[in-house]
Parts: sequence; structure tokens; C-alpha cells
Amino acid sequence: MKAWRKYSPYLLSGEWHIHTSYTDGHNSVDEYCRRAGELGIPLVAFTEHVRRDLNYDFHAFLDAVDRARDEYDLIILSGCEAKVLPGGTLDVDHDLLIQVDYPIFAFHSFPKDFDLYLDALYAVLSNPYVNAWAHPGLFLRKTGFQMPEDELDTIFQKLKDNDVLMELNKKYTLPPAEWINSGKNYPLNFVRGSDCHRVEEIG
Ligand SMILES: [Zn+2]
Ligand SMILES: [Zn+2]
Repeated sequence: MKAWRKYSPYLLSGEWHIHTSYTDGHNSVDEYCRRAGELGIPLVAFTEHVRRDLNYDFHAFLDAVDRARDEYDLIILSGCEAKVLPGGTLDVDHDLLIQVDYPIFAFHSFPKDFDLYLDALYAVLSNPYVNAWAHPGLFLRKTGFQMPEDELDTIFQKLKDNDVLMELNKKYTLPPAEWINSGKNYPLNFVRGSDCHRVEEIG
């Protein structure tokens, strides 16, 4: 069972995509938790950027999340946002991947090659640890590639079969509206993830 299942009542009321000052965010775990409490947001997931060779202390980050759990009356998940590599592997250490509650994947810097993208997407969707596809469609928007409709059907089917969430990302207005509409027919599970980099961006 994917970790998110346990928290499914909060998919749309929680904030499931947050970066702290451990990477490129501007606020601390504490500051986000305080703000979530003020706004009545019941769940926060800290999906910190990771790479195979990390340049910050991931355990200190996990400790901060643990301390916050004791301090705030919120559901607080540890997580990571891992970059998909050609072939569909994730740029993250396996030990780290299995330690966090909520790993999500994203296409960041990726070769501008549609077939390579599609192969990697299909492969990563069957990774048993991934919970959600972060800012889905951003790579296509940036590259100008169009997703053929039959491929979209295959993607939706794989999301459904593998119980992977599709992120609703207001910051980028993603996924495209037509994906949301056709995704509802499967039905896919959507999750709110705002890719917060500062407390003002949650809620
Ligand atoms: Zn991202
Ligand atoms: Zn992010």
C-alpha cells in the first residue's frame, strides 16, 4: 500500500509539497507548521530536494520533522522530491528513499527527447516507493512537446494501476485542465501540492 493511502482524507486539504531552508526554501519546518496551524491546514508534507550526493544533512532535516511532530497538532510527513533520470531511475540514495514517508518524483533537468521522457515516465511510475508525480506536465510545457491522446490514456492507466497521485499544482497551473478532466474518468487520485518555497505560499 502506498503511504499516502493512510492520509487520503487530507489529499486536497493538506499541503503536500513543501521545501524548507535545508534546500532552496526560505522557511524552517517550524515556521511552516506554525503557519499551517494558523490556517487550519491539517497535514503538511516536507518534500525536500534530494540527489544521490547530498550537500546538506538529511538526518538533521528528518530530526527537525520529528521534533515538529511532537510540537504541533498536525499530521507531518517527511518526504523528498527526487529527479527522474533517463531510464526512469531516481536521483536519490535508496536508503534515503525508504526512510521518508512520502517520496515524490519530478522531471527537472532532463534531456529534450520525447521518447526518452516517456520511457522514463513509464518506468518511474512502477517504482513502488513513489507516491506522486510533482508538477505533472511541466517538462512538456517547457519543451513544447505535445502528449498524444493514446499515450495519455496509458499514463493515466499506469498512475491508477500503481496508485500514484497526480499533483494539483496551483503555482504552475498544472496539470493541464484537459488532463484533470479526463483523469477524473479513471478515476485518478489528485493531491494538492503547491511547491511551497516560503510560508506565504501555503494555504
Ligand atoms: Zn520540482
Ligand atoms: Zn518542489
